[in-house]
Amino acid sequence: MSIARLLSKLKNGFINCHAHIDRAGTASFFEKKNHKAHLFEKWQLVRKVKKQSTTEDYYNRIIDACWSQRDKNISKIISFIDLDDIVGTKALAAAVKAKEHMRFYGVNLYIGNQTVGGFTSNNLKLLEDNVEYLDFLGGLPKSDEDPERHLDILFNLSKQTNKKIHVHVDQMNTDEEMETLWLAKRTIKAGLEGQVIAVHSISVACFSEAIRELTYSVCKDAGMQFVACPSAWIDHPRTERLSPTHNSITPIDELLKWGLTVGIGTDNIEDIYKPYCDGDMLFETRLALEACKIYDDDSIIDLAYNNGLKILG
Ligand SMILES: [Zn+2]
Repeated sequence: MSIARLLSKLKNGFINCHAHIDRAGTASFFEKKNHKAHLFEKWQLVRKVKKQSTTEDYYNRIIDACWSQRDKNISKIISFIDLDDIVGTKALAAAVKAKEHMRFYGVNLYIGNQTVGGFTSNNLKLLEDNVEYLDFLGGLPKSDEDPERHLDILFNLSKQTNKKIHVHVDQMNTDEEMETLWLAKRTIKAGLEGQVIAVHSISVACFSEAIRELTYSVCKDAGMQFVACPSAWIDHPRTERLSPTHNSITPIDELLKWGLTVGIGTDNIEDIYKPYCDGDMLFETRLALEACKIYDDDSIIDLAYNNGLKILG
């Protein structure tokens, strides 16, 4: 059976478990050479979009992206939305309005904060003042000078609001980071088992089998759920650094073997990060199953939809 035929059976469409929909359609803000900049540089370059866009610009782009997602049979989108002292609440206000609008057209948008630069006092105030508009809390510990405090803030807010936390971890495909295991241990210590979602966790694949197994075991105890964005880091720059051989993708096959929940997301759509990504979940699901040799129809349907429901809770 072709993947398209199998996934055409999805009565309720796909769940896109990770996007940055407020940046969709902003690739043209940047010169072509910037599209190849390093991830960390792009965190800064995207300030241009944040500064130059009005709430209306954000709204129009989010609506356009949601319609495009709808055309691709995506019914639910879990998206980070920029919320920091550069963009202020412009993107969030637009996303909240777009969410209300798209609900009537069969697209549910779930939003959380993307706070690049960490929870400085200004950013923390923005988060606390606007937490009522968020469906989940978003983390990017690597961009914060104090990653431990970053998690403490998210964990405390989660306890107060009962909202789940999606955290970007282990995106760089290198054994220089071990954030997934760290996040799982911290989750257990905070007593937040089942409330935390690890987004990416690609670098787990850079470690020996013994360390991977330890990571999965602690993640299991933490009730950790995962989101893989298969094409997001497939462009990992070639390096001379050695690690066990693997594809530059979340080790979905091993996570599933451990009974861990994995959903799929498109990540960035037509922006500086991924200028040619059209947000097609059929493509992302196909890439996941090819990269990790997942040839079981039920598992594929789980990745495309059912696990997204579990992640939404
Ligand atoms: Zn992301």
